[in-house]
Amino acid sequence: MSDNLKAYMVSESGEGHACVAFAVSGAPARQAGAGELGTDWDGIESCRRAPEFDAYAPGPVPKRALYDAGWWFECGHCGHRVSINEYHEYRSDDEGNDAAPEDFGFFERGRQVYCCRACMAKDEADDRTRAAHDAALVELVALKYPEVLVVSYAYWNIPEPKRSEVRFTLPGLEGMVRWIIGENTVSVERRDVENFKRLYSPGTSATPEIQPARPPSAFIASN
Ligand SMILES: [Zn+2]
Repeated sequence: MSDNLKAYMVSESGEGHACVAFAVSGAPARQAGAGELGTDWDGIESCRRAPEFDAYAPGPVPKRALYDAGWWFECGHCGHRVSINEYHEYRSDDEGNDAAPEDFGFFERGRQVYCCRACMAKDEADDRTRAAHDAALVELVALKYPEVLVVSYAYWNIPEPKRSEVRFTLPGLEGMVRWIIGENTVSVERRDVENFKRLYSPGTSATPEIQPARPPSAFIASN
């Protein structure tokens, strides 16, 4: 079927964002392109044939091919424009050594494009750090509540680890439990307060420390 599909360059009004959509004619291409760009029919400035990309039907066109054809991307790490038509400012590395020109240009990792090898490496390192922190947070929750079912959200705040936040589910509770790492209290939904006291903090049931609640949450001492 992809024999009938032709490539169209669909451009958004204003922002300068564009994509390549494959369709049998202009109208469905415009529709598909608008969807991909996160806008609607009226948000599209132009939709025109791009026969140079026909060979990639049914898509997507590799980012490298778009780059080679003069399209530009934003570096996934520093925001610098990644364009074959623009001069790169070759930066020096952390030790002040001049960076090699071949380390600049188009670099791709996963869904991201980078302006230079260093940006790609930094992003990769950030991902590894984030993954390690997420794993550490999950471990902290499991230490506090070995019964934990699912940790659905873990946010590690780099400058101030104590603001790191996790949300998780525990057997016997309907809603999420929220815990700011470092605080003695966790927050549970109002409907879970009684069950939480009974199941997870029996020692505190006599004098629960319930702080002013922002509905539907209430705060309760957990140990
Ligand atoms: Zn960059």
